[in-house]
Amino acid sequence: MQEIVDKVTHYLFQRGFNIERVRPDLIKASQRKLRVSTWFSERDYLEWFDPMTLIDEFALHDSNALIIVAPRAYSVADEVLSSLERAKYWYDMYIDVKVYSVDMAMLNKALEEAINSILTTFIDLTYNVVKVEGKCPRCRDNLYLLYMNKFKSLATSEQVFEKIYRCVTCGLKIHRIDKRLRRT
Ligand SMILES: [Zn+2]
Repeated sequence: MQEIVDKVTHYLFQRGFNIERVRPDLIKASQRKLRVSTWFSERDYLEWFDPMTLIDEFALHDSNALIIVAPRAYSVADEVLSSLERAKYWYDMYIDVKVYSVDMAMLNKALEEAINSILTTFIDLTYNVVKVEGKCPRCRDNLYLLYMNKFKSLATSEQVFEKIYRCVTCGLKIHRIDKRLRRT
């Protein structure tokens, strides 16, 4: 498990996050205003039934996204989602956190896709550039480049360039991975 935690930590750092190791099984990653908790579980279920325990355990008050890395991450994610649903009825507490599952058997691909998706979804919290670059393919208004980063892909082991675009008019968000940095 330690090996997996180290690998994920290293990867998140490459993807632009600052890392805080909260517990051996929990890391918090932040980038500008974006907060992501990553939980490593050897089990495929939650040990507690009370949603408040879940919220406290993972400091979900303070997270935009929770990544679950587990042997059967999808079933843990299901439990987390129904637990958060329960929190609404039991405590009238609404926790707005997106849950991503990363199956250990497909760690490389699933983790990369989860991070791509998180950065794109929360681009307004984490943009590092603002530049008009091309036209929106949907509404033809200006497309803004809002994020650029270079990292070694876990999925392909290649050095890649990442760009995230957003159209202010229609809201379309686009995530692109290129092997070379080029103008679009
Ligand atoms: Zn548009």
